[in-house]
Amino acid sequence: MPKDFLAGVQPEYDVVVIGSGLAGMTSANILGRAGHRVLLLEQHYKFGGLATWFKRPGGHTFDISLHGFPYGMLKSCRRYWNDEISSNIVQLKNIRFDNPMFSLTTTYNREDFTALLESRFGIPRESITQFFDTARGMNFYDDQSMTTRELFNKFFPGREDIARLLMEPITYANGSTLEDPAITYGIVFSNFMAKGVFIYEGGTDDLVSKMQAEMTRNGVDSRIKCDVSKILVENDKIRGVEVNGQQIRCRAVVSNSNLRSTIFQLVGQEKFDPKFIQEAQAVRLNNSSTQVYMAIKPGVEIPESTGDLLFCSTADAFRTDLLLDRNITSRTFSFYYPRTRPDGKQRHAIVSSTNANWSDWAELDEQAYKESKKELVETTLDALEKYVPNCREKVEWAEAATPRTFHHYTKHVSGASFGTKFEGLAVSRALPQQIQGLYHAGSVGIIMSGWLGAINYGVIVSNEVDQMLSKSALPTPI
Ligand SMILES: Cc1cc2nc3c(=O)[nH]c(=O)nc-3n(C[C@H](O)[C@H](O)[C@H](O)COP(=O)(O)OP(=O)(O)OC[C@H]3O[C@@H](n4cnc5c(N)ncnc54)[C@H](O)[C@@H]3O)c2cc1C
Repeated sequence: MPKDFLAGVQPEYDVVVIGSGLAGMTSANILGRAGHRVLLLEQHYKFGGLATWFKRPGGHTFDISLHGFPYGMLKSCRRYWNDEISSNIVQLKNIRFDNPMFSLTTTYNREDFTALLESRFGIPRESITQFFDTARGMNFYDDQSMTTRELFNKFFPGREDIARLLMEPITYANGSTLEDPAITYGIVFSNFMAKGVFIYEGGTDDLVSKMQAEMTRNGVDSRIKCDVSKILVENDKIRGVEVNGQQIRCRAVVSNSNLRSTIFQLVGQEKFDPKFIQEAQAVRLNNSSTQVYMAIKPGVEIPESTGDLLFCSTADAFRTDLLLDRNITSRTFSFYYPRTRPDGKQRHAIVSSTNANWSDWAELDEQAYKESKKELVETTLDALEKYVPNCREKVEWAEAATPRTFHHYTKHVSGASFGTKFEGLAVSRALPQQIQGLYHAGSVGIIMSGWLGAINYGVIVSNEVDQMLSKSALPTPI
């Protein structure tokens, strides 16, 4: 008999959280801790969403999205998770850039960047200070008319090399481009510049298992392999969800599913105002990614001087279209030394990540898809050769993921790695005004994506749900 993943589930909860990405789990944890009855439903066979990992023979474990986040993650984890989790957050000190314009290594914080911009790029200290202060003063409710390109032109006119230095890691961290509102850049860049780039020591598997344990302690009922097919709405109010053919009642839903899927598939556009639907239809998805995972043979060492994160590119210019092009010129290599998993099998791994368009991969037939993945692995090994000589002899296992892979495992529309563009934020925030008890927490608007953005958005939304549940002491809906 097939396993019933809903065995023992209650007929009703205060709140159902759909999806166990970092935003979904954080909301569930906070609401559980506040004493609400919480059910977390995840369609995949493990929790974590894009914060995930997989294992391969030989004791190799690959992390998908553990490359770097700002220091704020430590504070958020301490406050909204626990000390056991936050104490594993450590700094990555070797951030490297290598492209036809410059090659350098940095700790990627304000102090080091100020010194670099002054000494290597010849910018007067006063302009650097003004730029940093402007970026740090940005808020998500600020004017959005200035683009990141305009921001750079204002402080560093005509300096493509500086735009590249400032933008390349942020494009990688949240998919934003020179054409996006400058605030999406300023907020994320300043978060990183506060103290540098951090990572979770122990690996994503350890993080997610500790989060699961904390949710259990806080009374959250969490289930895998539970694919929510419908959010039930009656008279503009949440009534429950339909999952694996069963209906479960609740007063609030926090959807961590893609914003567009939440509105158009899970609820249905007929339940919203036509004007709101027009705005939702205009929300653009962020781009997707490709990755190549490479495991190093046991006993082979990669020197730490290779760096922790390496932003490398062979393109003469820094342009958004080049970053997304199938003909890859820019790659970010993450080097995982045995210290990433101190209790593990002392393995080295390398993951190469590149921003990508869904349309370049979506329509390939099976044969072409297989060949394209193989080509991606080969061209990545070619590029790695410069930094890890004889890498083909050192790599024991290599495989690729594409926008189709991310779509398959998370159901993100078009395999979006970072949710939606900026306009998604207002639509996400307006959901409870459309349907009482309907909330969305998950990657939107660039600033609410990435590990820290997702967790912080989960916090914001859970506070609103908590208030709503406490205020509306309604009888449980029938
Ligand atoms: C290749 C790559 C590299 C990245 N690198 C970094 C990095 O270095 N640093 C960083 O900060 N961020 C990085 N990110 C981004 C970061 O991983 C995400 O922004 C963040 O993890 C998203 O969290 P989320 O809460 O929005 O949900 P997601 O992780 O998107 O999870 C959503 C969850 O909802 C579930 N779900 C969807 N629909 C349903 C349904 N109907 N029923 C039940 N469950 C459902 C999905 O299965 C999934 O588990 C990277 C992303 C990618 C793709």
